Amino acid sequence: MRRAATRIDGLGTTIFTEMTALAARTGAINLGQGFPDTDGPDSAIEAAVAALRGGENQYAPLPGVAVLREAVLAHQHDFYGLEPEDVLVTFGATEAIAAALLALCNAGDEVVVLEPFYDSYAAAISFAGARRLPVTLRPPDFALDAEALRAAIGPRARVLLLNSPHNPTGRVFSLDELSAIAQACIEHDLVCISDEVYEHLVYDGQHIPPATLPEMAERTLTVSSIGKSFSFTGWKIGWCSGPAELVAATRTVKQYLTFAGGTPLQHAAAAALSGARGYLPGLRDELRAKRDHLRTGLAAAGFRPLRSAGTYFVNADVGSDAVDFCRTLPERCGVVAIPTSAFYDDKTAAPTLVRFAFCKHDATIAKAIERLATLRPHQ
Ligand code: PMP
Ligand code: GLN
Repeated sequence: MRRAATRIDGLGTTIFTEMTALAARTGAINLGQGFPDTDGPDSAIEAAVAALRGGENQYAPLPGVAVLREAVLAHQHDFYGLEPEDVLVTFGATEAIAAALLALCNAGDEVVVLEPFYDSYAAAISFAGARRLPVTLRPPDFALDAEALRAAIGPRARVLLLNSPHNPTGRVFSLDELSAIAQACIEHDLVCISDEVYEHLVYDGQHIPPATLPEMAERTLTVSSIGKSFSFTGWKIGWCSGPAELVAATRTVKQYLTFAGGTPLQHAAAAALSGARGYLPGLRDELRAKRDHLRTGLAAAGFRPLRSAGTYFVNADVGSDAVDFCRTLPERCGVVAIPTSAFYDDKTAAPTLVRFAFCKHDATIAKAIERLATLRPHQ
């Protein structure tokens, strides 16, 4: 009998796919997978239609279409004062991260990751034949323990894979925390792959790209995408920028993974990015209000929501095993959510936490709260 390669054994279906399928099957409200139920700016949709009608329908150049590459460079400069040497357009942030790991890691190398971490990280690290070195962030604050970070770094560590603002905790790492990370990268000569897909979804505090810290621009590959900043998660247009050598290595892998496409959407993404200053404050205010709505509602419903400074997510303590809780939630009250332990290697770190997405219509959030209130979890 033919068998799949051992490298993909055990990866299974993503928790997001599973939970969205469960919501569809049961008709439950889906606060699991993080995607908005409202589209991004009309002007970007019009730009996509114009590109489709205007003959932008063939392969893109491997590095991405010029207007989008220029828009990303302008964005990095405008928002953060960064001047990356090069930029590569990818199939979402996911491809940029996977291609970078494949490019930078040899079999047996080690990748430092703060857990909980986004699920594609573990898969991409294993595709590269590398090993992950988790540094555990613990509730309720999910603060980085600089000592634990130092202790985690092994002899073959090559990369530190960072995500701030952070899925699933909603943390936006502080300057102190990022400085400790920078120090570790410099001391151990690590490349920092910085996943900043939620860079503009910050409600309290400020997003600090690690590339802006001293001696970090030359060792950081900054990754982002159109999905969260402009509510177009299905477009899957992403990019990475940074030192020429890191971008070139990532481009070499990307060339053989997927080559280059999504050409009309690359043009539309350029249009969206050029309108960022006008669009983003409104989106941020809307999402902040949704976060507050969900947190207040969860607290009133007897849950114990934690703080969330950014992203689409609030975590709440349900006072019992979160995996069991989520598994039976659709049938008990018609809501889908994700056990936060799905993002941890260490399943004991947050066994009673559940992640809820708030990037949904206010009426949907209100309905979900009403349903959840019938459970009174801590009583
Ligand atoms: N990184 C994080 C932390 C995410 O939450 C997500 C998606 N939800 C991604 C990467 C993937 O981004 P994209 O859709 O642009 O591939
Ligand atoms: N990032 C989204 C989340 O955390 C899901 C993306 C996906 O389904 N891969 O919910």
